[in-house]
Amino acid sequence: MTADPRPSGAAPPGPPGPAPLPPAVDVAIVGSGFAGIGAAVRLLQAGRTDFVVLERAGDLGGTWRDNGYPGCACDVPSHLYSFSFAPNPDWSRNFSPQPEIQAYLQRTADRFGVRRHLRFGAEMLAARWEPDRQRWRVTTRLGELTARVLVVAAGALSEPSVPALPGLERFTGRTFHSASWPADADLAGQRVAVIGTGASAVQIVPEVAPTAERVTVFQRTAPWVLPRRDRRITRPERWAFRHLPVTQALARCGIYSLREALLLGFTGNPLIRRRAEKVALRFLREQVRDPQLRERLTPRFQLGCKRILLSDDWYAALTRPNVDLVTDRIVAATAGGLVTADGSGRPAEHPADTIVFGTGFRVTDPPVAHRIVGADGRSLAEHWSGGMAALYGLTVAGFPNMFFLVGPNTGLGHTSIVYMIESQLRYLVDALHRMDAAGLAAIEPRPEVQDAYNERLQQQLAGTVWNTGGCASWYLDARGRNTTLWPTFTWRFRRQLRRCDLAEYRGYPPVPATEPARTAVPA
Ligand SMILES: Cc1cc2nc3c(=O)[nH]c(=O)nc-3n(C[C@H](O)[C@H](O)[C@H](O)COP(=O)(O)OP(=O)(O)OC[C@H]3O[C@@H](n4cnc5c(N)ncnc54)[C@H](O)[C@@H]3O)c2cc1C
Repeated sequence: MTADPRPSGAAPPGPPGPAPLPPAVDVAIVGSGFAGIGAAVRLLQAGRTDFVVLERAGDLGGTWRDNGYPGCACDVPSHLYSFSFAPNPDWSRNFSPQPEIQAYLQRTADRFGVRRHLRFGAEMLAARWEPDRQRWRVTTRLGELTARVLVVAAGALSEPSVPALPGLERFTGRTFHSASWPADADLAGQRVAVIGTGASAVQIVPEVAPTAERVTVFQRTAPWVLPRRDRRITRPERWAFRHLPVTQALARCGIYSLREALLLGFTGNPLIRRRAEKVALRFLREQVRDPQLRERLTPRFQLGCKRILLSDDWYAALTRPNVDLVTDRIVAATAGGLVTADGSGRPAEHPADTIVFGTGFRVTDPPVAHRIVGADGRSLAEHWSGGMAALYGLTVAGFPNMFFLVGPNTGLGHTSIVYMIESQLRYLVDALHRMDAAGLAAIEPRPEVQDAYNERLQQQLAGTVWNTGGCASWYLDARGRNTTLWPTFTWRFRRQLRRCDLAEYRGYPPVPATEPARTAVPA
């Protein structure tokens, strides 16, 4: 089975937005999650109104529209996992549930006047750079448009990854991925198979287990789990955040600093990592009394190598009498469930009415890259066939005026991606201003600058737990290269992106309508 080719959101492509697609815009933004909405707000604040936001689904929100599974919540505290320019004093919990984050994004879009720029059902099917016109030709489900600048905000975790299970087509029950949870799914009284023990599965199982007849959890690798210590944010706290905004700024700052300190454990300081491993193992011992189950839940790689999971109720859910943990390999699906094979190949059947794929996303081979064609007629996916690479995780040689938000090596294992998004947005706006001031129609990074940047990144990543911690994770691509994570403190990323240095770019002056522009001039 392959991933559902439809937009992964629970919301199907809806009717087009209130206005038709403009034939030409200065900036086309693809995607309306945190990155796309943030880009729209920052453009508006910079006085740039000639843009459109193309969204394939029927609503904005991205991750927070799509992941409507029970228990879905952020795992970075909300006071940090939100825009700096739109603080929300009313978060109800430390780790807010999905509906609250989705409502926040909706409110933010309304408050900053983004709505009129949104076009729903406008999936970008192709974008091709036309060197002669120095514009992107963008084909969408609603028609075609051209844009001088293409901002790709299509999400790093927006394309579900579903393993090809032999026999799945014969399964007579229901199957769905965590990111396309049907609104009418009722798992009460059902036998539910959950494949995967990653960030989504640890949120789903504790919610589903109390009412399901049986939950069978299929684990390939035992994850590291730390207590989440979630709690309600009290009314006095919320009052303070609303009426004394400095208190919220301090809370945000405190969470940010604590999370940055954690990074030291991933990048070289084994003491911090071992301390965290001790906390996690103690938590496991306290929660799981059965030594055999505990043994199977004990991670066999260094903490941090894969995403650390935060949960107060995952282990407790696994000790319920109606929950089974299966660590044998799944070999096939049948009409009535899943078949595993143990070490000696002996099969075992696990009946199920519903199979839930908590199997993550296509991260190192983003499908949108197949749809973007650069100046040399080759797609971004072809350019990235040896591994994703960009300058500042944002611009790519050969793709003039393309800004790929949350691109290569901007992911994080420890803190809020919104911080990285805002750093890139500041750079984007600065780049547009500088291009205008320099009279340039287009820019693209100099290949040697991009290569040197990526070499530095790979050197920095070499000694980190993500590369050497003894696990196979989605942080690494098919060649074992880490093209997803930012290797150091996030403030270093912000500092690097505080302004766009045009010397790092090839710049192209505007061309008269009849003459092709191919010759770079010093920027
Ligand atoms: C369950 C879950 C929990 C998470 N929790 C956290 C957390 O606590 N902290 C954290 O930092 N990160 C978290 N993340 C990561 C999360 O994805 C990011 O934080 C953030 O939401 C990404 O925003 P985005 O705008 O880059 O992408 P997305 O939110 O994925 O938005 C991308 C948008 O682009 C649209 N799109 C894609 N392709 C096209 C196309 N061809 N044409 C038109 N539209 C297109 C999609 O429909 C989508 O609306 C979580 C992810 C998941 C799945």
